[in-house]
Amino acid sequence: MTTIDNNLQQVMGRIAQACKAAGRDPAGVSLLAVSKTFGADAVAEAVAAGQRAFGENYIQEGVEKVAALRLLSPASLQWHCIGPIQSNKTRLVAEHFDWVHTVDRLKIAERLSAQRPEHLGPLQVCIQVNVDGGETKSGVPPEEALALAQAVAKLPRLTVRGLMSIPDHAPDFEAQKELHLRAQRLFLQIQASGVPGLAHFDTLSMGMTADLEAAIHAGSTLVRVGTGIFGGRSYPAA
Ligand SMILES: *Cc1c(COP(=O)(O)O)cnc(C)c1O
Repeated sequence: MTTIDNNLQQVMGRIAQACKAAGRDPAGVSLLAVSKTFGADAVAEAVAAGQRAFGENYIQEGVEKVAALRLLSPASLQWHCIGPIQSNKTRLVAEHFDWVHTVDRLKIAERLSAQRPEHLGPLQVCIQVNVDGGETKSGVPPEEALALAQAVAKLPRLTVRGLMSIPDHAPDFEAQKELHLRAQRLFLQIQASGVPGLAHFDTLSMGMTADLEAAIHAGSTLVRVGTGIFGGRSYPAA
């Protein structure tokens, strides 16, 4: 068994354990393997171990990996863009990714919809929400999330799937959970809003290597795990 294979088993074990402790069905939590900064060979190893969904932060790097994996592996993979998107990168994202977790401006969503190729299905998107108010952070303030979801839902080539959040580092389980619960409350409010176009609003993307247990306790349906699967990254976020 390779290290990545072994790490994946461990992360899956953590997810199963957290679901049990939270009284949740493990089938309700999916694992996104965050492969940023790691090569196509590492992704191929994870694919061989059964992983199918991968998350990338840097658009160019992600697009190169999507192409490399098409040659390396016959498995059909799902690619999620989880990094900030500048206007000049929307076309690459619309053409190469299946999901985008980081929609926080209508203008970016409009470009993604306009540029989504006809031969691909709708791009699946989450609204990124800034639950702890850090001013330099990406994400809409919670009070603007419903209006943005409603506007994005009208775009023909996007399907609004839910919310994504990256709360600041918190010192312990309870503090982590408190931040994740803010995102969950908003998620449930939007689900209950009855706004048209949100029939597929079923995804709460939150939790990373350090806080996936707290996120699962707070209702996460998709955890994004990098370090826990691929190991420490040797170059930091741009
Ligand atoms: C890097 C990254 C992750 C994974 O973080 P780890 O701590 O390595 O698990 C998850 N989500 C986003 C948005 C990231 O940028």
